[in-house]
Amino acid sequence: MPYRFDFDLSDIPRVLFAEITRIAYNKKLHKKIGKATLDLIEKFKIQEATGLEISDAVRLLEDFIEIQAINLSQRKNFLKTKKRAVFLPHCARKYMDNRCKATFNPEIPSYFCNQCSDDCIINKATRIAESKGYDVYVLPGGSCIPKLLKKRPYQGIVGVACGEEIKLGGEILARSGLAAQAIPLIKNGCAKTIFNLETLEKLL
Ligand code: SF4
Repeated sequence: MPYRFDFDLSDIPRVLFAEITRIAYNKKLHKKIGKATLDLIEKFKIQEATGLEISDAVRLLEDFIEIQAINLSQRKNFLKTKKRAVFLPHCARKYMDNRCKATFNPEIPSYFCNQCSDDCIINKATRIAESKGYDVYVLPGGSCIPKLLKKRPYQGIVGVACGEEIKLGGEILARSGLAAQAIPLIKNGCAKTIFNLETLEKLL
């Protein structure tokens, strides 16, 4: 289930995400992150920048912190894996209509980017991941993951999605015993979603 609110953190300084990583480290020690989350919202003026209600802003950042904490705890196992794939969200494609020249294979099920636009974030992410030896899938949703893994088994997965989808996908991967790393979208919605390519490159 996607969030019931829209957010766009793409103009927020990257130092926010460094702070999230720092708090995620501390979370392993203290568990309590409520005050730290509120401090982040105030410090980076998240409400002013996004128009989010405070409860939605808290939920969003707590999900980011949770995801980062899970990434840190799974990092060692992930680095030991040999066969890896990247799952990208189809809603980040530059076009959501037939101007997108990706091929859709319903058997997998996944889109495969055919590089029609140099400025498409999916094209850029695909190139980065493939250059590092990853197979790349552009998924219509997290519910496609079990079918995909049945057809094409992997040991390690890097998934990009909204926080809610990451939680759903994370449960599926944990049940399969796979090591995963996740990158939350910094702008959600049905189309033109955004994630950070630098973060992706660092995680691969
Ligand atoms: S670059 Fe790839 S994903 Fe982006 S619009 Fe073109 S075919 Fe679709």
